[in-house]
Amino acid sequence: MLLQKEYKFWFCTGSQDLYGDECLAKVAEHSKRIVDELNRSGILPYEVVWKPTLITNELIRKTFNEANADETCAGVITWMHTFSPAKSWILGLQEYRKPLMHFHTQFNEELPYDTIDMDFMNENQSAHGDREYGHIVSRMRIERKVVVGHWSDPVVVGKIASWMRTAVGIMESSHIRVMRVADNMRNVAVTEGDKVEAQIKFGWEVDAYPVNEIAEAVAAVSASDTNALVDEYYDKYDILLEGRDPEEFKKHVAVQAQIEIGFERFLKEKNYQAIVTHFGDLGALKQLPGLAIQRLMEKGYGFGAEGDWKVAAMVRLMKIMTAGMKDAKGTSMLEDYTYNLVKGKEGILEAHMLEICPSIADGPISIKCQPLSMGDREDPARLVFTSKEGHGIATSLIDLGNRFRLIINDVECKKTEKPMPKLPTATNFWTPEPDMYTGAEAWILAGGAHHTAFTYDLTAEQMGDWANAMGIEAVYIDKDTKIRDFKRDLMLGEVFYR
Ligand code: MN
Repeated sequence: MLLQKEYKFWFCTGSQDLYGDECLAKVAEHSKRIVDELNRSGILPYEVVWKPTLITNELIRKTFNEANADETCAGVITWMHTFSPAKSWILGLQEYRKPLMHFHTQFNEELPYDTIDMDFMNENQSAHGDREYGHIVSRMRIERKVVVGHWSDPVVVGKIASWMRTAVGIMESSHIRVMRVADNMRNVAVTEGDKVEAQIKFGWEVDAYPVNEIAEAVAAVSASDTNALVDEYYDKYDILLEGRDPEEFKKHVAVQAQIEIGFERFLKEKNYQAIVTHFGDLGALKQLPGLAIQRLMEKGYGFGAEGDWKVAAMVRLMKIMTAGMKDAKGTSMLEDYTYNLVKGKEGILEAHMLEICPSIADGPISIKCQPLSMGDREDPARLVFTSKEGHGIATSLIDLGNRFRLIINDVECKKTEKPMPKLPTATNFWTPEPDMYTGAEAWILAGGAHHTAFTYDLTAEQMGDWANAMGIEAVYIDKDTKIRDFKRDLMLGEVFYR
């Protein structure tokens, strides 16, 4: 579900024929060795593929166009081993349409003090050639990632690994299809947006379906399929009856099992990877999808509540970018709900009515069945848990009328001081950086929403690089944020994106 393609990255080394065949043979040998070692590092989430040294306009153009055409290629990593006259790159770069990295490295780590001569200098001059190449990419205003350092340094390889996930996010963004079975909640502004512009900028396809079409798919799920999934729930989760009749409770849970299966079948059949619902527009559905949506998010589907299709697409994007990550801590939609404002213990209680992804859970997960206190349906069954501690990022994509802005806030997730036994929803609790007061002030000044797409597993840099590649504004709220500077950033955005 998460990723259908086995993506690869091409490694293209630049040089020229000025230095003779012997030098070019060494260039090829060195770049092959670097590619082998990168692949052996165990750090990269995707394979690097070596390509023959690029020395002419024709070959550069041909290689970039092959990269465009190859569906498994998610980006090109470029490195100028020697001096490569950058006018040779213009045509190829003009025609190239995928993520680009400039890896500013060199083969040797140390100056060979005893043996260095002019032949060595001419053969190993990326300090020189990479500046020539960097100039033309800047002059052409092409978005690219620059990574600097020796290829054997795990920190440097980690930066390549991190960018690879961004690049796959850029590639996969245009395959995100969001199913809307409800419109945005009446009168709510921040969950709205221009869907045509979103498709132009991000490639997202956002389509509406009558809610009763998906409700019919739910009703078509057999009792035996439903009961098998209920058994799975009862094996996997703690059941918190809280005084309810066990049989009645199980029937409520079965409604969610039927929704999970019905929704997933409908989404698969119609090729959607994200969905929005609305508690006020449920058609023939007996309960607001709670447990069902939580499980679908865990499987990799994006979700947004109250018709929030931007959050649904962002959650899906983050699920893609973290696909296959070892020791991933989780990604979910969340909502800023209520504060703890006690000095020294400040934080935001994050929750939603129901729909929090269990991938962020810490410890046991329980099923509860409680009234929703909104809408007019049965008490929905939901998964309840608290979330992991540690660093994460909360993001909000908003439509400002003339542009999209992505707000990225570094947050520190904690346990609440005391348990909250009466609260029937999953929660997270975090303090935004740089502190509660500055973080919340900056968020509000930037126009950030109450719904967020949250993850423990990506960095602000990765999401900001994605936003840059999409050609939209990104603003960062982190340990360095000062309100005066932040307001100037917002003013600069007003000018730049006019
Ligand atoms: Mn909400």
